[in-house]
Order: sequence, then C-alpha cells, then structure tokens
Amino acid sequence: MLGLMQDRPLLISQLITHAAINHSDREIVTVTVAEGVHRYDYAACERRSRQLAKALIGRGIRLGDRVATLAWNGYRHLEVWFGAAGMGAVAHTVNPRLFDDQITYIINHAEDRLVFADLTFVPLLERLADKLSSVEAFVILCDDAHLPETGLRGAQSYEAFLDEADDDFDWPEFDENTAAGLCYTSGTTGNPKGVLYSNRSSVLHAYGTALVDVLGMGERDTIMPVVPMFHANAWGIPHAAPLVGSKLVLPGADLDGPSLQSLIEREGVTLSAAVPTVWLGLLSYLEQAGKRVDSLKRVVIGGSAAPRSMIERFETKYDVRVKHAWGMTEMNPLGTVNTPKAKHSELPLEQRIDIKCKQGRPVFGVEMKITDDDGNELARDGKAFGHLKVRGPWVVKNYFKHEDEPLLDEGGWFDTGDVATIDPDGYMQITDRSKDVIKSGGEWISSIDLENAAMGHPKVAEAAVIGVPHPKWDERPLLIVVPVKGEAVSKAELLDYLKGQVAKWWLPDDVVFVDQLPHTATGKLMKTALREAYKDYKLPTARDPVS
Ligand code: ADP
Repeated sequence: MLGLMQDRPLLISQLITHAAINHSDREIVTVTVAEGVHRYDYAACERRSRQLAKALIGRGIRLGDRVATLAWNGYRHLEVWFGAAGMGAVAHTVNPRLFDDQITYIINHAEDRLVFADLTFVPLLERLADKLSSVEAFVILCDDAHLPETGLRGAQSYEAFLDEADDDFDWPEFDENTAAGLCYTSGTTGNPKGVLYSNRSSVLHAYGTALVDVLGMGERDTIMPVVPMFHANAWGIPHAAPLVGSKLVLPGADLDGPSLQSLIEREGVTLSAAVPTVWLGLLSYLEQAGKRVDSLKRVVIGGSAAPRSMIERFETKYDVRVKHAWGMTEMNPLGTVNTPKAKHSELPLEQRIDIKCKQGRPVFGVEMKITDDDGNELARDGKAFGHLKVRGPWVVKNYFKHEDEPLLDEGGWFDTGDVATIDPDGYMQITDRSKDVIKSGGEWISSIDLENAAMGHPKVAEAAVIGVPHPKWDERPLLIVVPVKGEAVSKAELLDYLKGQVAKWWLPDDVVFVDQLPHTATGKLMKTALREAYKDYKLPTARDPVS
C-alpha cells in the first residue's frame, strides 16, 4: 500500500523561489571582477534567474541541454545556476584552473551550447575557442560598459543577454530526477569524468547540508563560500543558503588573506568554507598583521585533510569552531562533517582536537562502510582501515556518457578510492588515498598523517610525503618540505620533531626542501607529479640495502 501524501517533485527552482517569498530582502553580496561590490536580495536573484531561464529558452536551449560557466562565485554565476537548472537545462561548472587540454576536453565532452564566463577567463577562452565546436556563443558576466574587445563567437555581455527576455516566466515542473548540474572530477589520471547531479540529489543534499550537526546554516547566518562553485558546487552552500535564508557573501576572484579578512569583517560573515591552502593564507595574514575575524563563528575545512595545527589556531587563537568535512565531486559533494557529540564537551582541549582531526560523521543520506581488498566489511573500531565505500541518494551511479560501464558493486556501493577508519561513534578518518598510501614491507603508512605531523612544525609552510622505491621495503616515505619564508630548518630538526608523533618505522627516510609544491586545480597536492619527479630518487637508506 502506498502512502497518501503528495508526490511533489524536488526541484532546484523551489529553493530560490522559497527564498524569494520568505527571505525576499536577505542580501546577496558579490565582489565582482571589474564592477566593484554588488548587493541585491533573494527576490531580485529569483526574478533575474527566471529572466535568464526565459532568455535561454529564447536561444533554443531545451531540457537536458548543457550550458557552461567559467566563473568565480558571484551573483550572475548564481543566476545561471538557478536559471539553467530551473528550466530543466544543465549548469556545467567548469573549473578554470584545469589545464587547457582538460578544459577543451570537458566542454566538448559535455557538448556545452553556451559558455558564461567571467572577464578573468576571456583570454583563456580566446585561446581555446576554435576547438570548442559545440559552443554557439560566449556570454561575458558583466554589463555592456565592461565588455572587452574580443573575437569570441557571439560575444555579448550578460546584461545584454538577459535583456533578450523579460521576467514573465513561471518555473516549469518536471521529473525530480531531471539532470541539473554537471561537474567533472579533476582527472589526475586519464580524462576527467562527468558527474551529473539531478534536481532531487541537489535538493536532498541541500536539506542535509543545512542541518545543525552538518554545516548548521540558518537565517541569522552570513555565509561566505570561498570554495568555488566550480569545485563540487561550493560544497552545496549556494543551494542550502536560500533553503534557510542566510545572507550570502560571494568573494569573487580575490581569495588571499587580506581580501578575505576585510570581507569577513565588513559583511559580518559568521560561517565560511574553504580548502586548507586558502585558510593557511588567511591565518598567516591574521598572524602577521595582528588582525582578527571576530564575526566568524564556524569554518568548514575540506577538500584535503585539515592539519591539526590549523584546527588549533582557529579554535584557540580566534575562537572559531572548525567543522572538518569530507566529500567528493561524486557525492554532490558532502559525505561527512565533524561536529562534536554531547559526550565530548567535557574532554580536555587536546582530546577534542584529536577528534576534530577526523573527517567526521556521515550526513543522514550517506551510508558508509570500510572493506578489505575482498570486499569484506571491517570493524568500526577506529583502528581497522580499509577501502571506504558509500551509497545514498546523492552518490554517483554512473559517469556522464559512461552509463554502460558499471561503477557500483552488487550492493550498490561506490568505492571512493579513499582508505579510512570508522570509530564506534561513527567518525570516519581518512588514512590516505588508496593510491597515495606508502606500502613499506607489506604494512601501510599514511602519507596524510605524516604530512599533518610535519605541518605542525612552526618552520614548515607546507609538506608532502610520497613513497619512493626501496630495495628492501618496496617503498619508504620521503618528506618534501616548503619552509616558512625566511626560515631555515634542517632534516635532523624535522625528524626529531616527528619522533614521538608517529611510529618509529613511519619516520621518513629522507627530507628534501623545495620552494613550492605542485597542486591540482582544486588546491590538492599533486602526488602524481611528485611521484614522477622523485621516481629515481635514491634514499640514503636505499644505497645500502642492509641498513
Ligand atoms: P576535487 O576536490 O579535487 O575536485 P575530488 O572530488 O576527486 O576532487 O576530491 C575528493 C577527494 O578529496 C576525496 O576522495 C578525498 O581523497 C579528498 N578529500 C576531501 N576532503 C578531505 C578531507 N577533509 N580530508 C582528507 N581528504 C579529503
């Protein structure tokens, strides 16, 4: 017997409509690329999103067609997101930090018909335009006064494009499983793969995101997603903010410490989200300049492991609660968020920080388990580690245009490619990416744990650990360090520092110092490039196989 409740579809257009009705005057503030600070409210955002939807239809864009964005977080980008998804098209957020070849590949693979781009990315598109055969026109996210001279096909300003229609348009209703957004994984090996979000997955994810123990978003919050919309939907914040009516601050292109600090103070930001490298920039600036961010109550750190020292600095120096989070492009993207339980509140600070170093508990909607190589489930004891698998209504089923290649196992589980532990309280901790783990004499060493330990040293700005070939142990860890500017630090000093923090057999066999480390387009350490660069590296312990 079926229930007798209404079967209303879950649609992205409802998120912005809800905000326009119930939070009509709540502000959306944008730092634009060339036009200064822009302010309007949810009512205006919804109206212009409808107008954009009508303009898209006027250009022949139909249900399921893809339109691309190459843009920073900003109000026009938001309108394209809501306008395209709201009319049944697909907003494809392209990561402009990818290599030219990858951008060309994914726009062609997605067969994007229009590209909406910030001024910043006009030169990039001019370089690639000849190869982007599916693109009919390029729309630049500015007004006519700021439109640059460009030979891009059909180039016009966003405001001119918008003016092709009025806002007399009702959001259509369609199946909630209709595709809404498309985001490609970074593709460190092989071609990037497209994850095609649905209206349903995005709305359910928005509900989950806002929960108190998840990001804890409410109307009284002023939220600044620093994480770009092209990096896994800015972790769902621009969908969840209208659901609860939070003020939104969209920081545009300048994501350095001074810009973020002044924006946080000026707009009274209470919650913000970014990857560790961005937070590192803010914390260094706060410390150097003696500035504060007193309005800020919570920060979300994800995308890579939050170093312990970063959690400590936020919590103890700036009285900001850290929400360590883990997710993937393949998951819309939130998987786990770390919020302490009631029983943790009495623990000493050190132990509370220990818990915060874990990536957190699954958001309801995400089922999670760890298995051995044969697929047998491992204990949730916080010690056993294995392949992390997930399933749920916002987890990928197939990659776009790879529908006939099975991705899930028989139970419908998706293998995340991460290795993790799960403790009896449900907290998951990433041990490593399965391809980054260092296999020494048949045992596994976590490169992430070693990196985090090294990053705790005051003279270390950034650290990477990779496995390099060793005649006796197969692989041994090599620590690669970027020292803090103007500081000298020695190998002995670092190894000494690590002793006591990690098992003795985990200690790196050597330390090298570099000026910078390679990063992926989403700010992660590019371990593949490091492994390639150091593949012939001779460890001091490898020269004498007896040692
Ligand atoms: P990207 O974030 O580069 O666009 P992915 O979606 O592939 O691409 O990134 C997901 C991966 O990032 C996860 O599988 C995990 O390895 C890593 N990751 C994300 N958040 C964390 C975290 N808090 N700690 C450790 N690793 C993380």
